[in-house]
Amino acid sequence: MTERPITIIGGGLAGLTLGIGLRQRGVAVTVWEAGTYPRHRVCGEFISGRGREILERLGMLDLILQSGARFAKDALFTLGDFATPVKPLPQPALCLSRYALDHALSQEFVRLGGDFRAGKRWREDFQEGVVAAFGRQPVQENRGPYYLGLKSHAVGVSLEADLEMHFVPEGYVGLCRLTEDRVNVCGLFQLVGKKPDLSAQWRDWLRGPDGSVLRTRLSSGEFDEDSFCATAGFSLKPKRGTEYSEIRIGDALTMIPPLTGNGMSMAFESAEIAIDPIARFSCGEIEWLEAKREIDERSDRLFARRLRWGKRLHPPLFHSIPRRSLMSLASHSDWLWKKLYSLTR
Ligand SMILES: Cc1cc2nc3c(=O)[nH]c(=O)nc-3n(C[C@H](O)[C@H](O)[C@H](O)COP(=O)(O)OP(=O)(O)OC[C@H]3O[C@@H](n4cnc5c(N)ncnc54)[C@H](O)[C@@H]3O)c2cc1C
Repeated sequence: MTERPITIIGGGLAGLTLGIGLRQRGVAVTVWEAGTYPRHRVCGEFISGRGREILERLGMLDLILQSGARFAKDALFTLGDFATPVKPLPQPALCLSRYALDHALSQEFVRLGGDFRAGKRWREDFQEGVVAAFGRQPVQENRGPYYLGLKSHAVGVSLEADLEMHFVPEGYVGLCRLTEDRVNVCGLFQLVGKKPDLSAQWRDWLRGPDGSVLRTRLSSGEFDEDSFCATAGFSLKPKRGTEYSEIRIGDALTMIPPLTGNGMSMAFESAEIAIDPIARFSCGEIEWLEAKREIDERSDRLFARRLRWGKRLHPPLFHSIPRRSLMSLASHSDWLWKKLYSLTR
């Protein structure tokens, strides 16, 4: 039987990882990517959980380390002027700018013989052989909370932990060190009522309120304005593969609250799950619907628990009393800290 080529819509982490995995199996793959690389994206740039093992299994970890990834070993949380002690992360995480990461993956895909169509937006239907990896999708404003994500790199900022999570009245801002002199500043905010004028206010949103530890941290630094980006109006409600008619991976399938630092890992994991069934479809061993059923079942099973816990833990983090209690309990109990970490991975 002749080989059936595969088309992947979206050249973000999920799409490129699947593309690389399929090229390693000799499958003919085209990736359509609406944007061009290198470019900045809204992301905490903190890869935690199983993502690292997958990068290792697919032979991509060295590539990522060569692109400048650093290990993050500890974390702290703050609320207003209160900071928890620095705690070791149960597993070291990787920090790398998406500017470097996505670019490195796209180059690796091309090196392996993949057809990368940058600057091309897919507008057709999803038939057999076409995989949806197009990332987070906007939802109607009246369905659930309205989220705003902002990110900018900053230079000249000193951190006390490799990862710092600062709670602010409308959400949280994560700081993570990318290089000796560069820190990623990324916030998720839950908006009620009028939308802010971002062009005038994004720096204030990311700096946090007066008197907060976050404000103090960023007071000595300067934002790299070219790295600023924003995203809004997406849903953090867990979804299952069986809800869709096409094969979906990464954020196109489901999102997990960013605080867990697990979205990138889930993009790598869902891509890895899809490699074998899609390669078998490509060489005619199974049909598309069978491949979809396998991918849906495995991803739903793999992600169910962390999505459930992400959904439970996220809403209280937007209210001052529960988040203060959770923060202080987790900072005093190693058991709880490790438990919360493992439940969301
Ligand atoms: C505020 C915030 C902070 C976050 N912080 C972290 C963190 O610290 N750690 C972590 O692990 N995760 C984090 N995440 C989540 C993480 O960014 C995502 O889970 C991850 O990027 C998902 O990868 P993806 O490939 O599915 O989607 P994306 O990386 O979004 O890629 C999708 C691609 O599809 C392209 N595309 C869309 N439509 C089309 C089309 N029609 N045709 C062609 N191309 C198309 C887009 O241009 C895009 O490049 C964060 C998310 C937010 C919102």
